[in-house]
Amino acid sequence: MEITRFAPSPNGPLHLGHAYSAIVAHDLARARGGRFLLRIEDIDGARSRPELAAEFRADLAWLGLEWEETPAQSARLPRYEAAAERLREMGLLYPCTCTRAEVAAAARESGPEGPVYPGTCRNGSAVPTGAAWRLDVARAMKRTGPLEWEDELAGPQQARPELLGDVVLMRKDAPASYHLAATVDDAADGVTLVTRGRDLFAATHVHRLLQALLGLPVPRWHHHALLVEPDGRKLAKRRGSPGLDQLRRAGRDGMVLANSLRNHRFPAGISLDRA
Ligand code: GLU
Repeated sequence: MEITRFAPSPNGPLHLGHAYSAIVAHDLARARGGRFLLRIEDIDGARSRPELAAEFRADLAWLGLEWEETPAQSARLPRYEAAAERLREMGLLYPCTCTRAEVAAAARESGPEGPVYPGTCRNGSAVPTGAAWRLDVARAMKRTGPLEWEDELAGPQQARPELLGDVVLMRKDAPASYHLAATVDDAADGVTLVTRGRDLFAATHVHRLLQALLGLPVPRWHHHALLVEPDGRKLAKRRGSPGLDQLRRAGRDGMVLANSLRNHRFPAGISLDRA
């Protein structure tokens, strides 16, 4: 059975781009007689605002969606720790104390998620306190061999996790990184079709590698096009895209809005980036 999900982070209100993403995931599940899940990705304790989860549920209901909710990330910390421990035992994680600024200054390339970590701490032997843990991607790929994954829209892909460099899996300031938590969760939730925006396309290279290392089932992916502003940048609340909570409270009809988004009729100035 097809199982899709919408996995918002409660660090800001949902906007039209989130609505579109949730509708795509919801409708794919419904069209295939499957299940649609909501997962609150509140791994980032410092930035998470727990009260937003209730707003998200109200927004989705207002759009006319129905879902099953799976445990939030804050309820699954031991799973992430166990996954990291397995990778550590395989000798694939190493501690890193570099700050973001240090990584940016030392980086020789820029990848899909910004400066690519140049491996500064890869051969250190001490385990300093307050370190993040990075995945040794070259060593991990040697262990798994070449990997493939399938995007419903873009077709078969060769996994190229090296594009993102040695990503952080356990953060200094949070229990786990997005990459580790989302991969472990999608497996725990039985997700068969990971539905999300194309901005996370490159992250999938890393997720596919983690699945191979941890022996997790391999879903398919559906990275949909993003809603963009006239300047081509993706919608963001901070640039004035209205929050769904605002539209809902202003008395707009959520089901009408959802149907407009389904039919690719967007408010003035907003379009779907098909590039
Ligand atoms: N929590 C992520 C976000 O809000 C989405 C993660 C995902 O769909 O894999 O951007």
